[in-house]
Amino acid sequence: MPAKTLTLSFPEPDLALLTFNNPDKGANVLSRSVMEELSSHLDSLAGRSDLAGLVFVSGKPGQFIAGADLREFVQSIHADKTEVVQMIRRGQLLFQRLSKCPFVTVSAIDGICVGGGAELSSWCDRRVVADSPKTSFGFPEVQLGLFPGWGGTVRAPRIVGLSNAVEMITSGQPITAQEAYSMGWASDLVPSENLLAAAISLVRAEQTSGRYLQDRERWRGPIEISATELGFLGATASAVIQQQTKGHYPAPNSALEIMLGNAGVDEDTGLRMEADGMAELFGSPINAALLNIFFLTDRNKKDTGIEGQDVVPERIGSLAVLGAGIMGSGIAAASVKREIAVTLNDARPEALTKGVQSILDEVSYNRATKGKDIERTLQYAPQINATTLYAEIATCDLIIEAIIENEDVKKQVYSRLEPQLSDSTILATNTSTIPITTLASELKHPERFCGIHFFNPVRKMKLVEVIRGKQTSDQTVATAVGYAKRLGKSPIVVNDGPGFLVNRLLFPYLNEALHLVAEGVPIASVEKVAKQFGMPMGPITLYDVVGLDTAIYAGKVLADAWPDRISGSPILPALVDAGRLGQKSGRGFFSYENKKNRARPDPDLEPILAPLIDSSGDRVPDKQIANRMFLPMLLEATRVLEEQIVRDPRDVDLGLIFGIGFPPFKGGLLFWADSLGADKIVEMLKPLESLGPRTAPTRMLLDMAAGGGKFYGA
Ligand code: NAD
Repeated sequence: MPAKTLTLSFPEPDLALLTFNNPDKGANVLSRSVMEELSSHLDSLAGRSDLAGLVFVSGKPGQFIAGADLREFVQSIHADKTEVVQMIRRGQLLFQRLSKCPFVTVSAIDGICVGGGAELSSWCDRRVVADSPKTSFGFPEVQLGLFPGWGGTVRAPRIVGLSNAVEMITSGQPITAQEAYSMGWASDLVPSENLLAAAISLVRAEQTSGRYLQDRERWRGPIEISATELGFLGATASAVIQQQTKGHYPAPNSALEIMLGNAGVDEDTGLRMEADGMAELFGSPINAALLNIFFLTDRNKKDTGIEGQDVVPERIGSLAVLGAGIMGSGIAAASVKREIAVTLNDARPEALTKGVQSILDEVSYNRATKGKDIERTLQYAPQINATTLYAEIATCDLIIEAIIENEDVKKQVYSRLEPQLSDSTILATNTSTIPITTLASELKHPERFCGIHFFNPVRKMKLVEVIRGKQTSDQTVATAVGYAKRLGKSPIVVNDGPGFLVNRLLFPYLNEALHLVAEGVPIASVEKVAKQFGMPMGPITLYDVVGLDTAIYAGKVLADAWPDRISGSPILPALVDAGRLGQKSGRGFFSYENKKNRARPDPDLEPILAPLIDSSGDRVPDKQIANRMFLPMLLEATRVLEEQIVRDPRDVDLGLIFGIGFPPFKGGLLFWADSLGADKIVEMLKPLESLGPRTAPTRMLLDMAAGGGKFYGA
């Protein structure tokens, strides 16, 4: 018998209290067995006319219910449509019973209340929420390629109004306790310690007034909204959805259609429409891909970066950052925001001044007011110390070096710094390309050295590669992983090698884009195909963002390692010679010399490129352009797996999604490859045979094609 999640008690003789507390999990999730428990409690309570009310609370501090059990979803992913509808109807009908009880039902919510949890609470007559920053309320289902299916699309519009419900459900974004109260989700907003008392008072008040019965009656019918209002809401919402999804994610549009349809019908018809609509999305390739991302992220959250449990990571109390440039300032700001005191060092005092200013600009930014917040400046400024002296950084727990990408300069800095460091200080480098073992070659304590590779801009990019050199200790790796997680990042641990993981996979793609341009394929076509594939920007724009000088340097590291596959294109040096370094200099492949700093085609580019372009290539079909860019990336991934650069194939997918924005709706590079099958990929590579080793199938791919193997196991 599994331990029970729901406990029934009676704080007052006529008042039932159901407490959710899943004994086996950190979060309360609505698994099949929990739904069965709820069902049997309702069987015993629903006939009791002596009760005044039923209150739901959570036994886990700071959280209510985190949603449905997604592992059970995955088990049913291949269910046919009829089975899916039945599965959904069971949940709907169970929750609907809450709105038919002969007493008042109230959810008392303190902490996260999302997905199925938000739906359960929406079937209650009333909701009371704790006024706490931990309380959040929302329907994140669209992020899994679904929409709420246990009555959320029917109940939410009736409780908070169609427009609010459309925004919440189609965006998947949660709202705060305050917002829930002002929107009408919550009848009361109280301090956490008063939550239960407030819920009981509400039961008493509703019992006396009988208002909840009028609401029940009203909510069972259609929503009062004119056809004009409905049409306007539909048009504006679908424009927003199109802008956000670029047409790649069908769930928000389906949710919108279902809600617009539900509005004009009664509750029971609406629920059937919801179940039928959900069955269209459940188990679709996009649903499967997005579920995969959920599990990748979940696994990453639990990953300590090392095997075994023996090593306890050290907690970083103080950080020093060497180099106050783009990356150093970004790393410092991210750390200060998480209450880690930072000492910033740079060889040039003017770089320090600029660095400190950029850190303050970032940490004092208030998202709510979209401007600087002087209180935040005062709060964070004392955490930042700027110095040109090593003596002031020697006692820090962690030092991250982010100076220029030059092996000799970095090594010189280490040799001056290391003798001054304490025995426990960890030294790390943010290098994008130089092997960690090479940089550690003259260190006395290579075991306390590793790569902590952030991505640009640090503020936005969730990925951090923690790179293990040959002699890096488990302790160092685990501490670096713990530090990155504290900043809210998703660190993956990778073994040393040119380009580590992400740049190694990115460059074959970037490299191929330049081959296509050199063959005469218009830049606009290359960009369009990449974006149609789902990339957030085309590879040519990405070159401009990275910086063409930087791209030449990083590309050279990879070209030196694998000259048969990566070749330095003459296009980049030609642009750099013309002073076009990309976004940072105002011009690269595109011009950024406009108010919004947006990429615009530049007529001055053509004369520079013309001598380097063969005009025959403009007939390459789009499909082939896509295969040429993305298959070399996949082939490189198979080499990375063969060389055990990553500890698990899933790190490849997480790394590319969070590091370069590989399309989430494809589930990751390897997940996408699995959905095609290795044999099909080998077929797709055949027409590219003439391009040589860079498009030749690898041993691993051929073996998988022959044996029906998958990257994600059988
Ligand atoms: P940057 O040019 O913006 O900043 C480098 C800073 O280091 C400058 O302020 C310079 O004055 C300082 N510096 C140089 N030599 C120094 C020394 N001996 N001691 C102290 N300070 C010194 O460079 P960046 O883009 O911030 O890159 C820094 C590191 O991060 C490089 O290793 C780079 O490869 C890596 N990286 C860069 C990116 C990116 O997109 N820019 C992304 C990931 C990693």
